[in-house]
Amino acid sequence: MAHYDYLIVGAGLFGATYAFKANEIGRKCLVIDRRGHVGGNLYCESIEGINVHKYGAHIFHTSNKEVWDFVNSLVEFNRYTNSPVANYDGRLYNLPFNMNTFYQMWGTITPLEAQQKIGEQRKEAAEEMRRQGVAEPRNLEEQALLLVGRDIYERLIAGYTEKQWGRKCSELPAFIIKRLPVRMVYDNNYFNDRYQGIPVGGYNRLIERLLSGSDVMLGCDFFDHRDKLLPLADKVVYTGPIDRYYDYRYGKLEYRTVRFEHETLAMCNFQGNAVVNYTSRAVPYTRIIEHKHFEMFGDEVSKREVTVISKEYSSEWTEESEPYYPVNDTRNNDLYMKYKRLADSEKDVVFGGRLAEYRYYDMHNVIEKVLDMFR
Ligand code: FAD
Ligand code: UDP
Repeated sequence: MAHYDYLIVGAGLFGATYAFKANEIGRKCLVIDRRGHVGGNLYCESIEGINVHKYGAHIFHTSNKEVWDFVNSLVEFNRYTNSPVANYDGRLYNLPFNMNTFYQMWGTITPLEAQQKIGEQRKEAAEEMRRQGVAEPRNLEEQALLLVGRDIYERLIAGYTEKQWGRKCSELPAFIIKRLPVRMVYDNNYFNDRYQGIPVGGYNRLIERLLSGSDVMLGCDFFDHRDKLLPLADKVVYTGPIDRYYDYRYGKLEYRTVRFEHETLAMCNFQGNAVVNYTSRAVPYTRIIEHKHFEMFGDEVSKREVTVISKEYSSEWTEESEPYYPVNDTRNNDLYMKYKRLADSEKDVVFGGRLAEYRYYDMHNVIEKVLDMFR
């Protein structure tokens, strides 16, 4: 068998981008994945000609021109702009929090009116924190109340967040909610980034391009074949869970997992939008994705009487499920740091990606990281 410069464990975005950049400088890579397909969580399955995001909706967004130019040099991107809608007890609200949301919540029309309304609510939250002698928000609940006030917190944040994370908002880190913009304009674009879109033809094309110069072995778990695999390459790039690499010697890191219920429906348009969040505790799923809206716009949507939707149910990770979201609370971050110290002392193993770095990485963060490593 051939000898490789790198054995890359995981054919997700980190592994595939690493393989591409290594190929560019003449390195040979063997990329393995325990799943039966490449792409990691970006993988799409074509059902009735619709690219179904099998592991959750993925929207590419970045403000980094180098990252955007890099992905566009590989595939073309469409004009998809994420504008999710929140359904709370049958009433709809636009996201992220903007003038449309404030109108739907309070009937405010002008930015000044909305500012006053939010200002009153923020003041209440700030006074409450002062009474308790708290200077900085200590958790997600306090952060959200300071950011948008009680009305929005109760209808659009508390239930959704508790379902997604399985923890009370008062027990979650504040940073999770800091990503959500609050805007005084009528703008439903979920992201603040300069560039956004979905690869034309789906994410598999991007991954195939990234892996085109490498050998790929699927259905191959590193830990089942470690002794045979290690002699094949000089170095290892590991993108799986870091605690698993060290046989959980300090204990297990916690993750959230998501169960996807995919349904094919004989209708052209189920919900009129790619993403609808269900923010009330009474609905068991967090959101419904209707995949055709990622790639079909305007009249194209109604051309065929078929659509695919996915309901997302969030729960605690167990070894039988896929780890998706690292739970970056203090206990888990401290535990991760112990594993990181072991990883830092390895000479021939690189740890990278969402699972190996136990970081809430978006796709552009992963690419940025790999581009930096090769610079
Ligand atoms: P992964 O995609 O998890 O790849 C790791 C790979 O390693 C997997 O294929 C796994 O099978 C393999 N592996 C693990 N252990 C082993 C082993 N022992 N042997 C062999 N193979 C192994 N980002 C955005 O930018 N926009 C979004 O809209 C967005 N939405 C998301 C929605 C959800 C539900 C989730 C979970 C993530 C989302 N992300 C989004 C983040 C995005 O998925 C990640 O940034 C990206 O997938 C990280 O790539 P990765 O290679 O680090 O990890
Ligand atoms: N969030 C919320 N209500 C919503 C959407 C998001 O409260 O309707 C909160 C929730 O705490 C979530 C965080 O905002 O974890 C970040 O959401 P985002 O959609 O950016 O993250 P994703 O789940 O896609 O990684």
